[in-house]
Amino acid sequence: MPTIILRPGRDRPIRHYHPWVFSGAIAAVQGEPERGDTVEICANDGEWLARGDWSSQSQIRVRLLTWNADEMLDEAFLCRRIERAIVNRQALCVSSAAIAESNAYRLVYAESDGLPGLIVDRYGDFLVVQFLTQGMEMRSERIVAILADRVRPQGIYERSDAEVRDKEGLPPAEGVRWGQSPPKDAIIQCGHMMAEAAGQSLRFYVDLSEGQKTGFYLDQADNRSRVGAYCRGKQALDGFCYTGGFTAFAAANAAEHITAIDSSAGALDLARANLALNQLDIPFEPVVGDVFKQLRAYRQEGRQFDVIILDPPKFAHSQAHIERATRGYKDINMIALQLLRPGGVLATFSCSGLVSSDLFQKILFGAAVDARRDVQILERLSQSPDHPVNLAFPESEYLKGLICRAW
Ligand code: SAH
Repeated sequence: MPTIILRPGRDRPIRHYHPWVFSGAIAAVQGEPERGDTVEICANDGEWLARGDWSSQSQIRVRLLTWNADEMLDEAFLCRRIERAIVNRQALCVSSAAIAESNAYRLVYAESDGLPGLIVDRYGDFLVVQFLTQGMEMRSERIVAILADRVRPQGIYERSDAEVRDKEGLPPAEGVRWGQSPPKDAIIQCGHMMAEAAGQSLRFYVDLSEGQKTGFYLDQADNRSRVGAYCRGKQALDGFCYTGGFTAFAAANAAEHITAIDSSAGALDLARANLALNQLDIPFEPVVGDVFKQLRAYRQEGRQFDVIILDPPKFAHSQAHIERATRGYKDINMIALQLLRPGGVLATFSCSGLVSSDLFQKILFGAAVDARRDVQILERLSQSPDHPVNLAFPESEYLKGLICRAW
């Protein structure tokens, strides 16, 4: 098998189970690995360390899958890792007699489940898969067969349309990989991952072939019910609402009125449909627009809210974008704080992995100073537990949120 020899001193992260080998850490390549081939990783003195997938194109030249010399990356290995991921989710979704259990969640979360480059999301009877590295692309048929056999869905749909495939030299790929095509108006049940602990789950239409990400923002599942609980009898603003995940939970918690802003008219139509699907008949004001501009317009009009939710898309895609992202987060949070009535609640999120929780809190502090508001943090939020964080791979933690009260 081809063997990769690391530069002196570059073995440390690998010994600590970090799963990436960057091109700059490589001293020599013995053999001629091809796209997605299995390679052995050795320290500079030749000591065997780990085994993983070669990528001919990405700066992340190898993704590591095992640190056990006896473990081959064969079909049995894939079955074991996928099985472990499934068992982990089953342990989360405890059903209760009173509350319907969520049937939409991330089933396999790449590095966090020991399968770098593989994402599998369950949406009721359908699975949506993403193969994001050359190694996983090579295994895609076997993975689809294992999932079909183990999960027995009605269909498996591929949405390998993420930008990261570009860096791997892989073209976008999309379509049915197994079984039936998902219907345009598929319905999922989504709520807190541990239904018994946090009550409530609601139904949502999802468009698995055209929707954003793999169709729905599953990572916010737990946070929606947490934030919803602050909305009883309140006038709420859901900024960057997409198909109304937070809106629906605010409505289910008897918000008095909800204004929801998104730049996508289609997403807002689905948000309205999702309220109707759950028989949530409350005053709902969908606004197609740019949150940055719309918040300013409300400030100009002197309009105020009791609860504001800000769940923007990823602002920082690379190190070079952090400063601009920081300004963006500060800007919307500052205006949102100004729009809150005294004692109002701001639930604010960042899904930029490059913006740490620490930095995000500092940004919010800057926004509070500029808005001249006294702000208390009530709750710190993260991604739902079906998106577990691999302790050896801090990059797997990307979503952070703060629920704050502003005076
Ligand atoms: N809160 C949502 C997920 C938000 S994803 C949920 O719970 O499902 C981010 C959303 O922001 C997307 O729907 C995208 O269409 C929208 N968006 C991106 N930039 C925007 C902007 N400047 N103004 C308004 N909406 C924007």
